[in-house]
Amino acid sequence: MADSMVSSFWGPVTSTTELCEENYAHSSYIAEFYNTVSNVPCVFLALVGLVNALRQGFEKRFSVLHISNMILAIGSMIFHATLQHVLQQSDETPMVWEILLYLYVLYSPDWHYRSTMPTFLFLYGAAFAVVHFLVRFQVVFKLHYVGLCLLCIPRMYKYYIQTKDMAAKRLAKLWVLTLSLATLCWLFDRMFCKKLSHWYVNPQGHAWWHILMGFNSYFANTFLMFCRAQQRGWEPKITHLFGFLPYVQIQKPQKRE
Ligand SMILES: [Zn+2]
Repeated sequence: MADSMVSSFWGPVTSTTELCEENYAHSSYIAEFYNTVSNVPCVFLALVGLVNALRQGFEKRFSVLHISNMILAIGSMIFHATLQHVLQQSDETPMVWEILLYLYVLYSPDWHYRSTMPTFLFLYGAAFAVVHFLVRFQVVFKLHYVGLCLLCIPRMYKYYIQTKDMAAKRLAKLWVLTLSLATLCWLFDRMFCKKLSHWYVNPQGHAWWHILMGFNSYFANTFLMFCRAQQRGWEPKITHLFGFLPYVQIQKPQKRE
């Protein structure tokens, strides 16, 4: 029957979260066009960060952090393109893993028992993935995620007040600014969705959340790389790629014979 022609390549929406963007409006292969393509800047920025970390020999944790940002953005693209429940979890579970990774990077320099923290965080992440798959948290997922993010803030603040370098301090301010703007966009999209649907142009608040969070992760990682390089005595300084994108340049001391 002509009526039952599938206009959505991925079939009916099975995800429990539906965003404000109209489904399959631009392509029958992409459920939410803007929410999908808005993850591209995050992948690009994470790639820049990864190349910088590898090229200058930063510790592996930073490569893992950039790769996890990349996986997160790709998972989000796949989820928004398909709106399938199983892929919703491929977006949400890595979000939790990534925050656990940030907790490790932030707290491990002062941790006395070296192997307990990564072991605990690994087990926590694995257990969360299984329980989330079985229980399909919704509100609990969001509250748990916000709780984990809040745990990062006191240590970020400590690093901020310890840093004397103005350019690095600016990175921390940009981190706060992008996080605040992204949260506003996310809330705006969720709270006024019904009204927005009647507007001539949908401002795509969720897509802006993706773009701003891509920059937010990049600023966080760059600031943390600066702080870590300072702890290791690598004389870090902030320079700019293409004249505007900040990154950390280090000078490792020559090893004596
Ligand atoms: Zn999203």
